[in-house]
Amino acid sequence: MITARAAERAHALTELPAYVYDLTALATHAGAVRAALPPSVELYYAAKANPAPELLEALAPHVSGFEVASGGELAHVRTAAPGVPLAFGGPGKTEDEIGAALEAGVERFHVESEQELRLLAAVASPRRAVEVLLRVNLPLDAAELGGAALAMGGRPSPFGLDPDRVEACLPLFAGGGPLRLRGIHAHLASGLDAGAQLAVATRIADWTRDFEARHGLDLTEVGVGGGMAVDYARPAERFDWTAYGEGLRALADRHPRRTLRVEPGRALTAYCGWYVTDVLDIKHSHGEPFAVLRGGTHHMRTPAAKSHSHPFTVLANETWTRPWPRPGVRDTPVTLVGQLCTPKDVLAARAHVPELRVGDRVAFALAGAYAWNISHHDFLMHPPPSFHYLT
Ligand SMILES: *Cc1c(COP(=O)(O)O)cnc(C)c1O
Repeated sequence: MITARAAERAHALTELPAYVYDLTALATHAGAVRAALPPSVELYYAAKANPAPELLEALAPHVSGFEVASGGELAHVRTAAPGVPLAFGGPGKTEDEIGAALEAGVERFHVESEQELRLLAAVASPRRAVEVLLRVNLPLDAAELGGAALAMGGRPSPFGLDPDRVEACLPLFAGGGPLRLRGIHAHLASGLDAGAQLAVATRIADWTRDFEARHGLDLTEVGVGGGMAVDYARPAERFDWTAYGEGLRALADRHPRRTLRVEPGRALTAYCGWYVTDVLDIKHSHGEPFAVLRGGTHHMRTPAAKSHSHPFTVLANETWTRPWPRPGVRDTPVTLVGQLCTPKDVLAARAHVPELRVGDRVAFALAGAYAWNISHHDFLMHPPPSFHYLT
């Protein structure tokens, strides 16, 4: 659950808490994902999962582009990875953000609404042609999706256009304006296994083909979104990229004129990061043991955001110099909490440990995505973690 290099660094760190990223492991993983997909399928990384420049740089050789979802991400990613194509998505794009995106030469706009499309046309008017994918909120068959953790498609949502409203956008592409309709984009659910992802991709591609035929269009691009599962309960499991790639190959064969594009975030970067800290206190409260760790969910909000117990490895530290007995627990479930004065600051609830003592180190796995960058850093004003990028 922790690479040898990351474990070695985690033991050697003098300042805790810390984030440790294994960039070599990240590059290997991204290379394997890329190799599992047919060459014709474009792999984009959704930067919101973790936009750290070091990670973007490690990913750049393996991706066709980055998906950004704000003016801030756009400016940041352009600087961190110059020359890598960008797709600009996300709801509520402002006039200033659209202007900046046009200025930066963004390759694709994922448009979320009619208002946004009109605004884009207005801002772009005197400038170059603008390549657009309309984001559609397609209904999904619940049975197809199995245990989708976070379904966004097919129900009321701020994301994308209802299928019948996509049609209403078509006149805006006519008449020699700057907008070019390249295709359809959708990101309908997250936490899907390969079978469910394929069902979703098929649904989007087939809908695009039917829509194209109905309106006599030429739609050459289909973005099928991200949301490939990361299993926090079974951290050694991986999304089945081989099966997904094979399925996409068959799908691409049925859509020979169209470029398929996938845009995972979590499933690319989650595995390369660890949040490492140490145990400050162990106590019993009404019969249950609690381990209080340095740091907490203000550094790694993931378990609070997803209401799960975060997987971790104990890194034993044999040094104990205090003149009193070392507090610890053995072969028991223990709740790992942080330093925040809120009962929500739980990193792992009733997790079984062979042994855990004050002064031992703990490395939380799957902390490379939606961890530091989604956390409320300033709450309670504890010091920030240090960051270590292993190359
Ligand atoms: C967040 C997001 C993604 C990435 O989702 P993951 O679950 O991290 O794979 C892809 N596309 C869009 C439009 C998103 O909003």
